[in-house]
Amino acid sequence: MLDLAKARWLYERKANHAAPTAIVLKTTRACNLRCSYCYSYGGSDSRVLPLDLAMRMVDEVSALNGLPFTIYLHGGEPLLCEDFLVGFVSAMSTRDYYLRVTIGVQTNGTLITQRWAEFFRKWCIGVGVSLDGVSRETNRFRTFPTKENCLDRVVGGLDILRKNGIAVALLTVVTNQNVTHLLEILEFAKSRGITDLVFNDFIPRGYGSSLGDLMPSGTTLFEAMKEVVNWLVCHNSANPHSRIYERNLSYLVRNILDPERKPYMCLSSPCGAGSKHLALDVDGTVYACDVFIGDPEFAVGNLYRQTLREMMLSSSVVKRLNARSTSSIKKCFECEIKPHCSGGCAALAFYVNGVLDKEAPTCDYYRKMIPFLRTQIYDQLLDPSLLTRHPYGKRIGARCSGHGSEL
Ligand code: SF4
Ligand code: SF4
Repeated sequence: MLDLAKARWLYERKANHAAPTAIVLKTTRACNLRCSYCYSYGGSDSRVLPLDLAMRMVDEVSALNGLPFTIYLHGGEPLLCEDFLVGFVSAMSTRDYYLRVTIGVQTNGTLITQRWAEFFRKWCIGVGVSLDGVSRETNRFRTFPTKENCLDRVVGGLDILRKNGIAVALLTVVTNQNVTHLLEILEFAKSRGITDLVFNDFIPRGYGSSLGDLMPSGTTLFEAMKEVVNWLVCHNSANPHSRIYERNLSYLVRNILDPERKPYMCLSSPCGAGSKHLALDVDGTVYACDVFIGDPEFAVGNLYRQTLREMMLSSSVVKRLNARSTSSIKKCFECEIKPHCSGGCAALAFYVNGVLDKEAPTCDYYRKMIPFLRTQIYDQLLDPSLLTRHPYGKRIGARCSGHGSEL
């Protein structure tokens, strides 16, 4: 009897330990754009995530962790499924855990209207808008099926959000086409009162799987990000009430200051894929991370057949991802800066190298940027608070004491 009780306790403890704190709901695969690098094959597949399935996922996550968590509504283009979004927030508002949930929507920005702005404000939804550059040249991969660049429509959408006082995070995929133009995005953000930016890695999968040479080299990325650091430090020192932050730099600095805490799932080792983070596709398949959506090798299970708890306890995908860490990757194991680095994104490592147990190609960048930041901070040449949001400060879309964009 005692053994049974102990086994149950261990089972529960393991299940709770695996509780996700950030989930992505793929609202639809349909998209009105055809970005040439889209990792999730956005396009004409018009399936929409069934509302009852979305709610089952969210209810199960809530029951698993009992803590604040974040829901990201992704696509395709989520603003194409108005009925789903309206139904989803209405259903969410009836849940007793509603106040511990942060909801964000990730949109291409081309369909934003006054009505959407009012919807985001009413439901306290944080909005991420994708923009790779402020010229047609640097935003060249983000086009309509007609090949028309989406830049003007995105800027129009951002203006509507601004007029309505909606907080926005600009998301940029950094490629060798825009890496030397990142300061233009910072200037644009400043001119529009946008204070949150995310410069993400290009992942060569989906439509982008044949575009591997779009990745900037570690040296090029380091030189570009050093300029970003300098720009942010100058701007943020001079404008203490309208500071601008770039999320990945912000978390990197926090990892340098406090390597034990690992607040951000992508910089943790192992990363959060399959444990702190899960993504639900329109057909009920749960993936370890939204970057893996559509890849059967990283499907954790299907919500039509299993509960989330069952999946997380039994999935070999979860075990495989949990086994990837700086201790299991030879180069990382011997690396002096591994307390501050995760070995890079697991998905990026996999789609570039074909295996998980190898460092991601961003290694060269981290090997330059981490010592640079560390020296700057420890020699007191750089005030780290100029680059990192206070962990309990303002967050996009946060309506409770949750963790906002802290995945
Ligand atoms: S810098 Fe490179 S070798 Fe070092 S831990 Fe990061 S990915 Fe691994
Ligand atoms: S696979 Fe990459 S994007 Fe996904 S949680 Fe891990 S590090 Fe982050």
